Amino acid sequence: MADSFDLAVIGGGVTGAGVARDAALRGLKVALIERAEPGGATTAASTHLIHGGVRYLLYDRLTTHATCWDSGHIVRTAGDLLKRLPIVWPVYRGHSRGLETVETLLEEYDQFQPMKYGRPHLRLSAETCLKIVPGLKAEGLRGALVFDEWWVDAQALAARTLDSARRAGATALTRTPVDAILREGGRVVGVRAGGRELRAKVVVNAAGPWVDRVAGLAGARLPLRLMKGTHLIWKNPALTPVGLLVEAVDRGRYVFVVPSPLGTWVGPTDIPGPDDPDATRTTPDEVDYLLRSVKLYFKDWPAAPDATIVGSRPILGQPGSEKLLSRDFEVFDHEARDGVPGLLTIGGGKMSDYRVMAEAAVDAACAKLGVSTRATTQDFTLDGKPVGTIPEFPRPSRALKHFLRRHPRLREAHALAYLGAAFGAHLARRTAGLRPLSDEEEFRRRYA
Ligand SMILES: Cc1cc2nc3c(=O)[nH]c(=O)nc-3n(C[C@H](O)[C@H](O)[C@H](O)COP(=O)(O)OP(=O)(O)OC[C@H]3O[C@@H](n4cnc5c(N)ncnc54)[C@H](O)[C@@H]3O)c2cc1C
Repeated sequence: MADSFDLAVIGGGVTGAGVARDAALRGLKVALIERAEPGGATTAASTHLIHGGVRYLLYDRLTTHATCWDSGHIVRTAGDLLKRLPIVWPVYRGHSRGLETVETLLEEYDQFQPMKYGRPHLRLSAETCLKIVPGLKAEGLRGALVFDEWWVDAQALAARTLDSARRAGATALTRTPVDAILREGGRVVGVRAGGRELRAKVVVNAAGPWVDRVAGLAGARLPLRLMKGTHLIWKNPALTPVGLLVEAVDRGRYVFVVPSPLGTWVGPTDIPGPDDPDATRTTPDEVDYLLRSVKLYFKDWPAAPDATIVGSRPILGQPGSEKLLSRDFEVFDHEARDGVPGLLTIGGGKMSDYRVMAEAAVDAACAKLGVSTRATTQDFTLDGKPVGTIPEFPRPSRALKHFLRRHPRLREAHALAYLGAAFGAHLARRTAGLRPLSDEEEFRRRYA
């Protein structure tokens, strides 16, 4: 006889694990099916930051806002997997963004930082920056800004979220690919995985960059714009004492340098990937680009990386140039979209808002199941302890966010309108001498 569930979740990355946890905590009978290891795909290939994304302030402000908002929940629920990471952004003569522009951006980011327990940015002189980052190129350095992010053990975040789901009663099958979506009279009634049938009233497709392929098993489509990203990895976990964000060799992009327990990571690239996520590979061009970018700033940086890692960002299909792609997420109901009742897809988004993505997907599933229980994922740590008081912060409008996703130029104009006003206010403060430089002692006190 087939096993029977309220919900079957396909994919055990951070998103699917989040969906399973949310649903199990609401009392639903859940099965999650992952073809490999939990969190071993895109989640493990990420930059491992729980962040709002400073750069989205340039063209997708509401994503920065929404992601900072959910990051706060992740800090409260998974705090032991996170480590505060100061990121130094050095600015050189001839860089495409000067000190005042970068500081304006970070002043804007400061408004969202309290949502995720982040601290306000600091501004450093070139001399102080060189004391904090020994080995950094001195020539042309005009100064630096420092902003605050969280490094997370991403694969552990997915695994621990799944453990939490299991403790709440979920069943998890790993190393078990779903090879068919079962349908009766057109309606989705479960999945076939590992030669076994799992019956489910609702199936949630949470397969990250594979969501289109998985939806295809039920004859549905979900076009994505897959953007591949490679990191170079050196085993030495401390090639720099702090994180860095540096302008890349082509001056079009920025590259993170992230010291972490998993080694020092440099990346990511951000280029269109193949439609088939299984065909995503690092190319020699990417290695060369990242190496040259980091070596621009560190003359003695070791030559070849010890490893590389690559993944595909599961970005929702949308109009506009690659540089302006929104990282918004959406729950797709394939009944309304493709005439396939019983199948939902959660697509797009970031690791940093996986909890709220899961909540949205399970809300949609509950509506189909006639269940009115609300999410409690924000109230308990992954270990099951109550998180206590949750500070209230305003959230951006989802309706406006969805609207702007379809209109990239308007979205950019919306973001730039804020930055334009902020730049004027910033210059006024600078002129009035209200923005002192931080010294080494202040930096070390803060990040001791
Ligand atoms: C280079 C790069 C850097 C990034 N950096 C960050 C960052 O610093 N911070 C941040 O917030 N976000 C970041 N992101 C985005 C973030 O990594 C993703 O949004 C997130 O990890 C997606 O998780 P997921 O669970 O949806 O996908 P995945 O982690 O890919 O999980 C999907 C799972 O589905 C499984 N699957 C596929 N098909 C089947 C099937 N038929 N049967 C069963 N299982 C199946 C796969 O094995 C996989 O484990 C980055 C992404 C990339 C590519």
